[in-house]
Amino acid sequence: MARLARKPPANDEFEITLLGPGYGESIVIHLGADEWLVNDSCLDRESGVPAPLSYLESINVDPKMVRLVIASHWHDDHIRGLARVVKECVQAKFVCSAALRSNEFLALASTDGHNKMRPTSGISELRSIVDVTSSRQPPLRTPVFAVADTVLHRTVLGDGRAVAVAALSPSPEQVANGLQQIARLIPEVTARRGRVPDLLPNATSVAVWVDVGDDAALLGADLETSGSAASGWLPVGDSNVISGMRASAYKVAHHGSVTGHSDVIYDRLLTPSPLCVLTPFRRGRVTLPADQDIARLCERSTSVYSTVKHVPKRQALDSAVERTLREMRARLQAIDPTMGAVRLRKKFGAADWSVELSSNAGSMCGEL
Ligand SMILES: [Zn+2]
Repeated sequence: MARLARKPPANDEFEITLLGPGYGESIVIHLGADEWLVNDSCLDRESGVPAPLSYLESINVDPKMVRLVIASHWHDDHIRGLARVVKECVQAKFVCSAALRSNEFLALASTDGHNKMRPTSGISELRSIVDVTSSRQPPLRTPVFAVADTVLHRTVLGDGRAVAVAALSPSPEQVANGLQQIARLIPEVTARRGRVPDLLPNATSVAVWVDVGDDAALLGADLETSGSAASGWLPVGDSNVISGMRASAYKVAHHGSVTGHSDVIYDRLLTPSPLCVLTPFRRGRVTLPADQDIARLCERSTSVYSTVKHVPKRQALDSAVERTLREMRARLQAIDPTMGAVRLRKKFGAADWSVELSSNAGSMCGEL
C-alpha cells in the first residue's frame, strides 16, 4: 500500500479509512477510545494480507480492539479475506445481512461444507467465518443478522459520549424476499408458490450509521435504489436510529453508480456538501464511477475522494479475439493497481475533517 502516516488516531479522534485497489473495498473506523469497526474486506495485492489488517498493523493497532466486523453483502469485491479478519479480530461481533439468499443459506446450513453448490469465493468466506465463530463463546458465537433500524454496537466513551453503530438496511421487505428465495429450495413449497422474485445481493446490503454523539458517518454499502417504497434507499430516510442527526461523512453507495443514488441520501441523511469517499469498481467492461457519476456526485459535494484516482481501462481487443474469449467463457482481468486509501480524521467536537490520501488516491471534483 502506498502508505499513510503510521500514527494512530488519538483516543478522542473519529477516524474513517477507506481502502480499495480498484476492485475491492474495506472501511476501518475508529469509534473513539481505541474501539474499532471493520466493514468489508479486500486483499492487499502486494502482501496477500486483508487490507484492513495491514492497515491496523501499519498504525500499530491490535486487531483485538475491533468490536464489530460487518459484511455488507456477499459480493467478491467486499468479502476477500474477511474470514481471516474475523479470525484475527477475536473480540469482534460478526454482522451480516439478515436477507440471506439461497446460496448463502446453504453455506450456513451445510456445517460439513459438502453441499453440491459450486461456491463463489464470497460463499467460501462465509463458510470459513462460520467455522471460526462457532468455536467462540457466546455472544460472539453466532453471527448477528442485521435488519434495518437495529443497533449493532453501543458504547459510552470516557468523556461520557454515547457512540452507536446501527444498520439502516435491509428492510423487512428485502428480508422477506430472501426467505422466499430460500423457500424455493423446498420443492413442495415451490410447487405451491410459483415464481419467486429474484433478489440481487446489492439490494440486501447492510448500510450502516455510525453515530459518535455530535456527528455521524453513513456507510452506503452497495445499497441501490429500488422501485419499491419499502426497499432500497427510500425507507432509510425514515429510519428511527438517525433521530434527526445528519452525517458529515459518506462512503458513497455502490462505487458512485447512479443505481446507488437517491435524493433521500442527500436530503435526509447528510449535511450540506458532505465529505464523500468512494472506491472505484473495475471489472470487465464495467467501470464505476462513470464520468456522469462523478459529475452528479460533485454537484452534491465539493469534496469527493476516490481511493484510486486513475483506474486503468481494459484495452479494446480485436472482435474475433473478443468472440473467442466469450465462447471460452473467459473473462479478462486487468492487474489490480496498488491499494489506495483515503483517511478522514477529526477530533470529537471539531468542525472539520482532515483528509489524507495515499499517492494513488485523489479528489474527483473540478477535473472533468
Ligand atoms: Zn461493490
